[in-house]
Amino acid sequence: MIYLDNAATTKVFETAIDAANTAMREEYFNPNATYKYGVAAKKNIELARRTIADAVGAKPEELVFTSCATESNNWVFARGIKNAKGNVVISAGEHSSVYEAATSLKNRGVDVRIAPFTSSGTVDENALYGLVDADTCLVSVIHVSNETGVINPIKRICKGVKARAPRALFHSDGVQAFLKCAEPLDGLGVDFYSASAHKLGAPKGIGLLYIKQGVNVAPFMCGGGQENGLRSGTQNTPYIAAYAAAVSQFKRDSDSAEIAAIRAELAEMFVKRGCKIVGDGENSGYILCVCVPGVKAEILQNLVHEHGIIIGKGAACAGAKRGNRVLAAMGLSPKEIEGCIRISLFCDTARADAIAAAQIISETADKLRSGNVG
Ligand code: PLP
Repeated sequence: MIYLDNAATTKVFETAIDAANTAMREEYFNPNATYKYGVAAKKNIELARRTIADAVGAKPEELVFTSCATESNNWVFARGIKNAKGNVVISAGEHSSVYEAATSLKNRGVDVRIAPFTSSGTVDENALYGLVDADTCLVSVIHVSNETGVINPIKRICKGVKARAPRALFHSDGVQAFLKCAEPLDGLGVDFYSASAHKLGAPKGIGLLYIKQGVNVAPFMCGGGQENGLRSGTQNTPYIAAYAAAVSQFKRDSDSAEIAAIRAELAEMFVKRGCKIVGDGENSGYILCVCVPGVKAEILQNLVHEHGIIIGKGAACAGAKRGNRVLAAMGLSPKEIEGCIRISLFCDTARADAIAAAQIISETADKLRSGNVG
């Protein structure tokens, strides 16, 4: 199998499985218990938090473990602005976990404003600045698009927003950027940043919310006061250990320049075959969105699956929904959107596999266009 849907999820590293196994088999004690095994389990959580914080350039106490990035994003919208009155601004390119959380605020009467996306795949910065004002309490802009891999310059955007809306808290959904974009988190200037472990070789069901030191936020869940009183519920010790192990392995194994070179090679191959690359803004290097003319992505996806090639066609979690809100926001027509496939790489992607897959995808698309499949 050649797996090229790593933006949807990644294969779990053996080191992460081992770490989770150890935590379940041997270190299964409640980390909030006061006897020595409980204390040891708590210590493991703090070690994991430090490992992840060091890797991304944050302070350990700024990271709160959650069950997934969807939870982190929802937390910010539901509780991040608990006492604030005013408008909320998001970009048109947000993942559905931000977009729908903002929509639910809108349904409750909050003034939610949406900044347009450009055809390059970034938020239209001037339009965004035009929407924020002294009453803006929250702004959310995705760091790396899960559809195209295009990077929003979050540091500059955050600075620009805060200059115009000093009261505003700034959130970025960093799921596809976490550890893949080099900038340290504390240097971005953001107040909140969401991440998910399963995009990095760890299991599904664990994520985190970065909350800048000094930023006040209401707890996501009340109860026993775990996670510094911010997210009650017994911590998921096996997956927290796995998350830290995956982060360490990703740091060791990943060669972003090599991944970007593979992506560039694939892009060139597709362009030579008459395809269009979606989003020409600066790319993380891990995601390639290709508009294949004259074919339906879903059919192409199923046909290449028969060759053992797994590709995506837009965000997996939006799979059930029709169309693609983000690609539409970039100006693609419904017909173009129908033909968009998403190829996403990871540190374990071999160049030869990716090239072989691109060849088969192109040949299959040619056959589909000429009606020569079956
Ligand atoms: N945000 C982005 C940009 C994503 O790509 C995803 C997952 O596809 C999520 C949020 C949701 O992450 P999780 O599966 O951890 O809820």
